[in-house]
Amino acid sequence: MAQEIQHPCVQHKLAIIRDVETGHKRFRELATEITMFICYEALKNIETREVKVDTPVGEATCRKLDTDLVVVPILRAGVGMLEGILELVPTARVGFVGLYRDEETKLPVTYYERFPPQIRGGTCIIIDPMLATGGSTAAAIDQLKKNGAENIVVVCIVTCPEGVELVETAHPDVRIYAAAIDEKLNENKYIVPGLGDAGDRLFGTSH
Ligand code: URA
Repeated sequence: MAQEIQHPCVQHKLAIIRDVETGHKRFRELATEITMFICYEALKNIETREVKVDTPVGEATCRKLDTDLVVVPILRAGVGMLEGILELVPTARVGFVGLYRDEETKLPVTYYERFPPQIRGGTCIIIDPMLATGGSTAAAIDQLKKNGAENIVVVCIVTCPEGVELVETAHPDVRIYAAAIDEKLNENKYIVPGLGDAGDRLFGTSH
């Protein structure tokens, strides 16, 4: 299932990050801010346990997070969302997955993968700003599941119906959270209206 985060503060930031006039410094800041908001929503139902805390005045019954969180950026653009989620959950562990598309088969191939053992039994959050065709996301989920992960969510900034459908068909147990589900993919597999090439805009590599 895909959920669009329609909070006015998220939508305001989304309007600025989409703008072609927004430079890479501000783009990076906005990616961090938007990620924090989306993850806040995506983690709404994670496990907590009761703890007792001594305040200066008495004992309070409180709740603390009770699951290992593993954030998995898809290289390269996913790295631009890492700071936002680590600000929200500083104790999260980080795994990485790098994928490229084989020119002949058109299928995603994993060129790098490093996951902490806590993916088994913990909650894995895949981050990638643009869930476009869905091929990389579905492949990243495959890799996590092959390594024992069972509880996986996907957080992106912008997605589209084609990408959501592919991921949902391959992995119906995985929830997708996004600031926007846009109209479609164009012939170059860019999301329309989207925000362009997220990696280039994050890292200042566009011409
Ligand atoms: N990757 C991007 O960075 N942008 C898109 O629109 C699609 C894939």
